[in-house]
Amino acid sequence: MIKINENYKKLQASYLFSDIAKRVAAFQQANPDKHIIRLGIGDVTRALPDACIKAFHAAIDEMANDATFHGYGPEQGYDFLRKAIAEGDFQSRGCNIEADEIFVSDGAKCDSGNFQEIFANDIRVAIPDPVYPVYVDTNVMAGRTGEAEAGRYTGLTYLEGTRENGFIPDLPSAPVDLIYLCFPNNPTGATATKEQLKQWVEYAKNNKALILFDAAYEAFVQDERLPRSIYEIEGADEVAVEFRSFSKNAGFTGTRCAYTVVPKACKAYTTSGEAVSIQDLWNRRHTTKFNSVSYPVQRAAEAVYSEEGRTQISELVGYYLNNAKFIRDQMEGLGYNCIGGENSPYIWIDAQGDSWDLFDMLLNKAGVVCTPGAGFGKCGEGYIRISAFNSFENVQDAMKRISGAL
Ligand SMILES: *Cc1c(COP(=O)(O)O)cnc(C)c1O
Repeated sequence: MIKINENYKKLQASYLFSDIAKRVAAFQQANPDKHIIRLGIGDVTRALPDACIKAFHAAIDEMANDATFHGYGPEQGYDFLRKAIAEGDFQSRGCNIEADEIFVSDGAKCDSGNFQEIFANDIRVAIPDPVYPVYVDTNVMAGRTGEAEAGRYTGLTYLEGTRENGFIPDLPSAPVDLIYLCFPNNPTGATATKEQLKQWVEYAKNNKALILFDAAYEAFVQDERLPRSIYEIEGADEVAVEFRSFSKNAGFTGTRCAYTVVPKACKAYTTSGEAVSIQDLWNRRHTTKFNSVSYPVQRAAEAVYSEEGRTQISELVGYYLNNAKFIRDQMEGLGYNCIGGENSPYIWIDAQGDSWDLFDMLLNKAGVVCTPGAGFGKCGEGYIRISAFNSFENVQDAMKRISGAL
């Protein structure tokens, strides 16, 4: 008899997106002529930068000739891309990360979900709340938790983001071994300072713990004092792995390319306390289960680091940030307290009551769709997330309607 992985039965079905879809459909049916503006999704809306498109086309032409055709590439990614990443994203910012510490992949979602696989099942895991659901669910699937009780799994340590701590969680009071952090944060848009990250790095060092740092939104950091990478903190290369993606900076959500930084200095331990290289473990896992990203996509990603690419990406990110600022200013003008939207495409808004009440009001009175914070965890209750991923015209229209409705 084929038996299931019983851990899958513990997973809490998220009704969030189906609930949203139902309410939106009901509204549309009642108001067939009303144009609904969606500011709820975490997907980009603008075309790939021209530099990427050119490189993409040229690489496809190479695939059309026997002489320049590419078959399987190195599982970790082509050297040209690993070098461009190490220099462009790290060495240029004073972080000592080498090309052979970069593992190219088809997504930060898969990497941040898969990474836990190389660790023991009885490690203690700390996960932020509110949170990008991938971190929690993959640990549930692996069997690191008990059942869910009132929306929280037993056996996990939740790092609470609250109004009081500005959605930058405090260090855990009981020891943990694996820590997930995401800055700039999805869903809250909160950003951590160097001092705050330094505390986490020190904590990890003192506890022989590991930080999994999701920096998918680093390109949105505008304030030069804020870190874009955890490796801007001294010694972080001993205790942190970083996830990056071309999805949000260069619009690769449908093109698929990302990477994970696994420094040589990162160690994990055997039961008897012997140190093992995390990079060796990840390399083994990655080369066994993954066969690299397509050649044209890696060439398109490489173009992100060209002069033309950089200019276009900063324009692209600037466009969404301009939307974000507009949304935040408008919502604050209407008397709502907001987090994010300054170094992040997300604006996290205190709903001054129930998340779903504000969601319904924005939908029914303004025809605008947002995301209720409760879908991201217990600490998300009482908040909504508005995303800046849309056209400026739609954002302006949405804000005009909201102002008129309130
Ligand atoms: C969008 C996003 C990613 C990127 O995922 P990809 O699989 O690379 O598209 C990673 N982490 C967070 C928190 C995100 O919101």
